[in-house]
Amino acid sequence: MRCEVPRRVLPPRQEPAATFTQFVVKLHSRCNFGCPDCYVYEHRDRGWADEPRVMSPAVMGRLSARIAEHVRRHTPERVQVVLHGGEPLLAGRAAVERFAVRLRADCRDLGTAIDLLVQTNASLLDRDFLDVFLRHDITVGVSLDGTPASHDRQRPDRAGRGTYDEVARGLALLRLPRYRRLYGGLLCVVDAVADPVETYEALLAHEPPRLDLLLPHATWQFPPPRPHGTAAAPYGSWLAAVFDRWFDAPRRETSVRLFDSLLDLHLGGTSSSEVWGPYGADVVVIQPSGLIEYNDILKTVSAEAARSVLHIAAHDFDRAAADPGFAAERAGPDGLCGQCRSCPVVRVCGGGLRAHRHHPANGFDNPSCYCADLRFLIDHVRARVTDGVTALRERLSPARTSSRPPSPPPHETKPGE
Ligand code: SF4
Ligand code: SF4
Repeated sequence: MRCEVPRRVLPPRQEPAATFTQFVVKLHSRCNFGCPDCYVYEHRDRGWADEPRVMSPAVMGRLSARIAEHVRRHTPERVQVVLHGGEPLLAGRAAVERFAVRLRADCRDLGTAIDLLVQTNASLLDRDFLDVFLRHDITVGVSLDGTPASHDRQRPDRAGRGTYDEVARGLALLRLPRYRRLYGGLLCVVDAVADPVETYEALLAHEPPRLDLLLPHATWQFPPPRPHGTAAAPYGSWLAAVFDRWFDAPRRETSVRLFDSLLDLHLGGTSSSEVWGPYGADVVVIQPSGLIEYNDILKTVSAEAARSVLHIAAHDFDRAAADPGFAAERAGPDGLCGQCRSCPVVRVCGGGLRAHRHHPANGFDNPSCYCADLRFLIDHVRARVTDGVTALRERLSPARTSSRPPSPPPHETKPGE
């Protein structure tokens, strides 16, 4: 899947461990694009074929009540509800509005901020949809894979035609002053054969308030494409090149969550990106039928890895949170292999995404299949930050010397000082 949700993570916050704060709502199980690397349709899992196309009003109502019930019990500060698919806009404006109305009503006066988002390929985005989003305060995240050439290669429609122009048209609407406040950002999957700086600048042309750069989903059994003749850590060096372009810009052009989180961690803070930090993922997925599933990135592992036996008709989200599959997702450092636990950068890296650690021989008890890339990027960013701080100190130190008050003349120095 190339248009997944930028995941929230579970840094040490106040909510009790059994609280979900990100609900991924699969409004529609199909897509009008045919991305060759989509983990929903093209990897191991075929569960989408058994799902109804659209979430019914009855399931929507039940789901909204379940979310409200969970929020009421745990009173987290914020909850994120992401409308997702397939392509969620295929569900139609009426379905999106129905769910939004119901959720806003059910969660009114609970004291928790409900962030409602839609993650879309933007091909169906029009003013009518945007007016629905305005009415219900729904933030829009768009999946776009860099330059037109790269995007068209990675995100063709079902007939194999490029989709860049359609997406760019949707983004132009979203950037209109009337809708601009809805613009959540762009999500781009790294294409290691594309030029990194060209990719970043092509994304920047759409004025995103935020960028999410994602590694293609892979495991030790199904490793990421490593273009012939590239560096030992091609994804790490690709991201490092984008980091340098972003970090060295004379002004802050946009927020890149992957880099912001890495900088925060290097400076002793916490991460807001699931990729970094020794935290657990705090996400629950609800299929159009009402089936409750684990983090859907696990679909890249096997046909069953994301499946639970839970359903919103029979189980509430507290029951789901107690399920061993969800417990494993939120295990954090306890879920890491020995190599990661003794790794000098584990506090920053956190072993990468759990799905990326999988090997058929021993499950998730491995470092990430992107280990070399993650380490490369972490070391690169740390070196850049260290150099930056050193240069800043050197620039400031003459100023400090000149602004220091002059030393008192010798006769004003008290005896014994
Ligand atoms: S646009 Fe559709 S096919 Fe492409 S990654 Fe997203 S869900 Fe999959
Ligand atoms: S994945 Fe690699 S770099 Fe990351 S913590 Fe594990 S061993 Fe260290």
